[in-house]
Amino acid sequence: MKTIKDINIDNKKVIIRCDFNVPMKDGEIVDDTRIRGALPTIQYCLDHNAKIILLSHLGRVKEREDLVKNDLAPVAEHLAKLLNQDILFSEKTRGEELEAIVASLEPGDIVLVQNTRYEDLDGKKESSNDPELGEYWASLGDVFINDAFGTIHRAHASNVGIASHLESGVGFLIEKELNALSVLENPERPFIVVLGGAKVADKVGVIENLVTKADKILIGGGMAFTFLKAEGVEIGKSLLDEENLDFCRRMLEEYPDKIELPLDFAVTNEYTDDEEYRIKKANQIGPDEMGLDIGDDTRSYFEGILKDAKTVIWNGPLGVYEFSKYKKNTDEILQFLVDNNIKTILGGGDIVAAATTAGLDQQVYHASTGGGATLEYLEGKKLPGLEAIK
Ligand code: AMP
Repeated sequence: MKTIKDINIDNKKVIIRCDFNVPMKDGEIVDDTRIRGALPTIQYCLDHNAKIILLSHLGRVKEREDLVKNDLAPVAEHLAKLLNQDILFSEKTRGEELEAIVASLEPGDIVLVQNTRYEDLDGKKESSNDPELGEYWASLGDVFINDAFGTIHRAHASNVGIASHLESGVGFLIEKELNALSVLENPERPFIVVLGGAKVADKVGVIENLVTKADKILIGGGMAFTFLKAEGVEIGKSLLDEENLDFCRRMLEEYPDKIELPLDFAVTNEYTDDEEYRIKKANQIGPDEMGLDIGDDTRSYFEGILKDAKTVIWNGPLGVYEFSKYKKNTDEILQFLVDNNIKTILGGGDIVAAATTAGLDQQVYHASTGGGATLEYLEGKKLPGLEAIK
């Protein structure tokens, strides 16, 4: 994969596709991890006297009201503080104002362009990779660097579109993500996959791809109940993904020694954090009960398997971690992996959020910034953002 280091960027106009899709509340940035994640690539461009043009999306833009709430201006201000230099901001995603700013750039200057998805308002031009838009943005620079791992599984004008017109490479953030994930191509064994979260549907491809490669797949979270139901166990009011019952049944039949299901659960009658829970064996869940976390026996059982692991990939929390009562076992197993120095990769989204709340995201081998991108990588799919660079 061509990286920024393989390209001569000295004094050139470098377009960097960043992932500034940060959580915002009332116009304030709630968590700037993603902005800080882009700094190494930006700093490298500054060190090479490049003229820097930054592009990013923020949220989704479907209607006019979405424009104000997804304005990238606060990111420009925040970036200015982090880099301790002025950041120019183009209110528009195209046109004379933007072109004039780009023409005025001196080496070391930075302009952030307004949210690329403003272009979605008029016919989804960004998200459908409108060829004219990609070509237009490419015309603003000399070199293209993609550093937005979170959208690498999508073909948008601001990544694939631009890459098809300019000399292109990946930035340091994407390089780091790919290096960490490449561990999984030839993992040190035992190689254990931990899967949780709500929907089986999202993980069918991952299970199919990893079941032949992994030594064990430990399943918790809401998705465990569809597997249990497929075995004929009554699951009460717990989460069920009817459409994937056959898939779960087939996996259990074909890989009976690989897939491990929970032995017990923390169950309650309502989906709330307010009620007391009881611990029930997996086959003793009552018709009015739902399991919201794995139980302690399951945790010990899973830890017994994980203690010998040399590589672990984990996607999806093992319980409703947003509720204080049902985050315990996800947190404890995360802590167990850290304490035992087990090479652990967290596959984006909710499990990284759970690790961050528990203060463990920096202690694992790698916490991936891209949920959907990581899942598609784990499914063994080709990622359009990377293919365009190749
Ligand atoms: P996903 O996007 O499929 O990875 O699902 C993440 C969500 O799964 C989180 O919001 C969790 O609250 C939810 N989840 C985890 N365990 C359970 C469970 N036992 N019942 C219902 N939802 C769960």
